[in-house]
Amino acid sequence: MSLGLLLSTIGFDADDTLWQNEHFYRLTERRFAELLANYADGQHLSDRLLEAEKRNLQIYGFGIKGFTLSMIETAIELTEGRVPAAIIGDILAAGREMLGHPVETLPHVRETLEQLAGVYRLVLITKGDLFDQERKLAQSQLGNLFDAVEIVSDKNVSTYERIFERHGEGPGRSMMVGNSLKSDIVPAIQAGSWGIYVPHDLTWVLEHVEEPVNEPRFRRLNHLGELIGLLEKLQ
Ligand SMILES: [Mg+2]
Repeated sequence: MSLGLLLSTIGFDADDTLWQNEHFYRLTERRFAELLANYADGQHLSDRLLEAEKRNLQIYGFGIKGFTLSMIETAIELTEGRVPAAIIGDILAAGREMLGHPVETLPHVRETLEQLAGVYRLVLITKGDLFDQERKLAQSQLGNLFDAVEIVSDKNVSTYERIFERHGEGPGRSMMVGNSLKSDIVPAIQAGSWGIYVPHDLTWVLEHVEEPVNEPRFRRLNHLGELIGLLEKLQ
């Protein structure tokens, strides 16, 4: 039996797999550093911001709104409460700008999804702010290529078990494609799926883990355009 028949569902991560995301965080962090240049040097600021983001993930979840609150918290801490309200206003404006930024779809995305749609069940699996992810999906005009969209608070083994049961014949007959080893690849493989890693130049430091190179269901691609060839080779 060919893998084409065995594999029923392909899950796709969204941020930095289908469209640019981390790039905008880096730009905003640079703006944040400029705003607080009189109070702290760039590296120190960036370390403290990352600490705040880590602390706050459990409270705010992933996404731009949590990131904005973490920038404000860092600004207050670093200035020992002396940060001017005008700077807080500028930080809020920077966050709003991110939430309104036009979506930039990555190369090979549309043509790859168009070739796979109708052959496999395609599921978009993303974490982050519900409202923001829905906006980006609508703007990308990729929504009609997916059979289902799952916006989740976190991506772990049980997330993939649940989603691939719901939208297919279980993890064993599913594949997850994404740029985060920690969120997309390792837990999907642990759930029993294939994990196809498509690295992006920029990936958030909290999403880094070792590549599971010894896992038979792990593959690494240079870009999403190589996915069709991989599926053909695996059959
Ligand atoms: Mg991603």
